[in-house]
Amino acid sequence: MIDLKSITYDKNWIPYTRDELVDKIEKSMSARRFNHVLGVEQSAIELAEKYGCDVNLASLAALVHDYAKERSDLAFFDLIRANDRFRPLIPFGNNIWHSILGAELIRYELDVRNEEVLHAVQVHTTGAPEMSLLDKILFVADYIEPNRKFSGVKTARLLADEDLNAAVAYELKHTLLHLIELNQPVYSLTLDAYNKWVAHVDYK
Ligand code: GDP
Ligand code: FE
Ligand code: FE
Repeated sequence: MIDLKSITYDKNWIPYTRDELVDKIEKSMSARRFNHVLGVEQSAIELAEKYGCDVNLASLAALVHDYAKERSDLAFFDLIRANDRFRPLIPFGNNIWHSILGAELIRYELDVRNEEVLHAVQVHTTGAPEMSLLDKILFVADYIEPNRKFSGVKTARLLADEDLNAAVAYELKHTLLHLIELNQPVYSLTLDAYNKWVAHVDYK
């Protein structure tokens, strides 16, 4: 396991050290969610080491990914009102807002300037037909981090250890099943991701 003290962020990615960022993240959410975020960082670093991604980028993406999760609906409505292109997001609620609009808040409030990290945050809930290695790592780490407890998480962890693409496909399939079970609206990007990664099983 990597020593977290060795994690460093390029000044062009974010103007804070990891310690400074961790402090800001802790203040922006409940203790329970903060623990989840640290778990996602641990899993993201492990996956980055395994699959050859920059561990520093993986740490940064994980630490910021749920920054906006506990914002009020009213705060998100302000953002949606300010930009017409966000209007189609209205029916989907916080699940979709905290990732797609969260990336905007991370850009402006935490000064994250690394576009790869911002993209990984944007698609961390839905996945996408085209995903970079960092996108996949954050998407899967969010699902399998050590605090997650749901039936299927063991299988997801085993797949993540063997084949990252298979883990992405497994997560998409089970998220879609879960949303349908709960009569939740499915965002178009989630369906596009499902069609690419599961329905056509072209992830090899
Ligand atoms: P978390 O923020 O760590 O809890 O995890 P995620 O950001 O991955 O997911 C948040 C929630 O969004 C989960 O309950 C997912 O099942 C849900 N979700 C994923 N895709 C969609 C979608 O297309 N529509 C809706 N309504 N929810 C979704
Ligand atoms: Fe999230
Ligand atoms: Fe998360």
